[in-house]
Amino acid sequence: MVPAVAGNGIVNMSWRSLLSERTLLLNVTFQPLSIISVRRAVLLVLAGKAETLNCSDEVLRSESLEIQVPSVVRLNYYVRAPFRNRAPLHRKALFARDFYLCQYCGERADCIDHVLPVSKGGRNTWENMVACCRPCNAAKADLLLENSRFKLRRAPYAPQPLAVAVAMKADVPLDWECYLPAALTLTA
Ligand SMILES: [Zn+2]
Repeated sequence: MVPAVAGNGIVNMSWRSLLSERTLLLNVTFQPLSIISVRRAVLLVLAGKAETLNCSDEVLRSESLEIQVPSVVRLNYYVRAPFRNRAPLHRKALFARDFYLCQYCGERADCIDHVLPVSKGGRNTWENMVACCRPCNAAKADLLLENSRFKLRRAPYAPQPLAVAVAMKADVPLDWECYLPAALTLTA
């Protein structure tokens, strides 16, 4: 069923399109803030709180309004970026953070290693999990890093929530790229 969007005059758009998060929201400073739903983006623009910087080819139509689906919108005012949020841990984003490379030998990774093994109290956290190849994973086994021949190529870190959200998207629109600094694109 199509949910009611009464009050904003937007009709003729499937609930799936309205709910999907596929508009990049920028601060007034052009700093990327988050990925929001098309519906929220359109409401921000209609309320005069944001301007559209890029559109997709799709058009939203109602009896009184025709508006192109925004792909990138910029707020007309400054908001403080939410630094307190911790990005949820996702397998796909973890591989992207490590460029799909084993963090011990640099070969292509196909599994995940706990730096501090689970058997020794290691947890499922961004800082304790790295992309790994099967041979390294099997050889390291339950050893502590200091008791093994393995060295991390770089310290694992928790990426920004927006970087993870971008990495989890199946198709990142091309017109987002110029607004996303390298730190926010966890691409291989
Ligand atoms: Zn390896």
